[in-house]
Parts: sequence; C-alpha cells; structure tokens
Amino acid sequence: MSVKPTEYDFTRQIYDRTGTARSAVWEYFGYYMNEMGYLDRNYAICKLCRVGIKHQGSNTSNLAYHINRKHPELQFTLKQSPPTSANGENSR
Ligand SMILES: [Zn+2]
Repeated sequence: MSVKPTEYDFTRQIYDRTGTARSAVWEYFGYYMNEMGYLDRNYAICKLCRVGIKHQGSNTSNLAYHINRKHPELQFTLKQSPPTSANGENSR
C-alpha cells in the first residue's frame, strides 16, 4: 500500500502563536517554522486541515472566516462587532 504525498504536510509541527492580543482563533491556528528556525508569520496554518491562510498582524477576521466556512462544527464565534439588527429597515 503506497502512501500518496498529500498537499498539506501533516507531519510538520504547528507552533502556537505566543504573545499578547491572542485571539480565540489561535486555538485552531498556528505557524510553521521555517528552515532558519523562524516562525513563518505570514501564514496562519489551520490545525484542522493544514491550509495556510495569509494574514497580517493581528487581523484574524479571515481566520475566523475560514473556521466558520470550513469547520462549522466548531461553531466558532469571534467576538467582534455585534450583529447589526435589521429591525426598522423595512419600515415604509
Ligand atoms: Zn481548516
């Protein structure tokens, strides 16, 4: 039985993001370390499907978006701006 190489390398270690301003999405994302021993912070790696998502700084909205789209079973909710109420929009 041969093993096909997969697109995403599940053997690599994913390192948790450390430091301040840790968003809850980092429960599900981490970083790969490159050959030089630096964490590649350009891409957040999903711990569940190993897809790399480009993100910048502390902006985690696209990471939360990925969780909600690809892993809805987690029922992840990012505490962001409250949902806008549609009440009163239909008033004529
Ligand atoms: Zn994923």
